[in-house]
Amino acid sequence: MKSENFETIAIRTQTERSLHKEHSSPIYLTSSYKFDDAEEMRALFANEKEGNVYSRYSNPNTSEFIDKMCLLEGAEDGFATATGMAAIFTTFGAFLKNGDHIVSSRSVFGSTHQLLTNVFSKWGITFDYADLDKPQDWEGLIKPNTKMIFVETPSNPGIDIIDLEFLGDLAKKHNLLLVVDNCFATPYLQQPIKFGAHISIHSATKYIDGQGRVLGGIILGTKELIAEVVGFARHSGPALSPFSAWILSKSLETLAIRMDRHCGNALKVAEYLEKHPKIKLVKYPFLPSHPQYKIAKKQMKQGGGIVTIVVEGGVEGASKFMDSLKMFSISANLADTRSIATHPATSTHSKLTEEQRNEVGIEQGSIRLSIGLEHINDILADIDQALA
Ligand SMILES: *Cc1c(COP(=O)(O)O)cnc(C)c1O
Repeated sequence: MKSENFETIAIRTQTERSLHKEHSSPIYLTSSYKFDDAEEMRALFANEKEGNVYSRYSNPNTSEFIDKMCLLEGAEDGFATATGMAAIFTTFGAFLKNGDHIVSSRSVFGSTHQLLTNVFSKWGITFDYADLDKPQDWEGLIKPNTKMIFVETPSNPGIDIIDLEFLGDLAKKHNLLLVVDNCFATPYLQQPIKFGAHISIHSATKYIDGQGRVLGGIILGTKELIAEVVGFARHSGPALSPFSAWILSKSLETLAIRMDRHCGNALKVAEYLEKHPKIKLVKYPFLPSHPQYKIAKKQMKQGGGIVTIVVEGGVEGASKFMDSLKMFSISANLADTRSIATHPATSTHSKLTEEQRNEVGIEQGSIRLSIGLEHINDILADIDQALA
């Protein structure tokens, strides 16, 4: 029975059962595969026949994870990687060459910023940053050698948003690849390919696992583009392990129900904090006070699980608030069942100058709250007592 519904696809997409007729997919811990005869080996290596050859290329567990993600995100094909950063590195490596230029959103994940400034620059690939809240500036940054637009929306930790349909049209007009890091939204909340993105990337470490256990990543796109990714990845070796793929595929079965709760809890936290006198600013996509609220409503199903706030008193105020939390964990991670508080200025974004931080909306008093799946009353009570 074919379904159009997210929950059913996430649960019922499964690799063929083995001789044992197991109900839940087993883990295929095998590095390689056996061929029936020399002719089968030849045909598989010549790409005349589909099948597994070596687990750096494919494995039944990674294939199940990829098949599900393709259906959930509206992509034709995909490649799964060991981490989210491996997915980003592999995408850049597959499509960019010496002399190419990228237009990227300024507010990107810290390691993506490091790749752009310290790794790809060494290989003659240049970039310019554009701001999510200034869509009018993006076209002016496109040069004759621009090859790719790279964007994260919503951004981390500023929670800024840009219209993906606008970027899709811009990419089409200038014949550029539009690559979206869709990690914060997950396929449940946002499907960039439907708005004109060519490639959608995830750190599966975040909401896709959602339980703080394994690292993983995925690159999704058309058959033709993923063939280029696979060509690069097969020989550079960023493959996801079968064990992690098995965890991630199982985790997708509960993604919808987890995201509904993350988003519901986060919205309640955002609404509560917006009225609190000790809070200077609350950024959450589905608060009507968010500057890009209308765009968020257009392209996202719900607002996500991250709320960024600014408390009074700068670094001291932020530290005092974080140290007063009793249940929230202080951690640099996000998207866990456990609620987490992070102070970006002294952790994830400490390598940026204060000026660079201001440009992406990080103040000394900014705190990123990753709202977990604990009971909402306990989440609110912890925040309330810490503010008191
Ligand atoms: C965490 C994260 C990454 C990197 O993922 P890893 O799995 O840690 O390598 C990339 N982009 C975003 C937006 C992230 O939050």
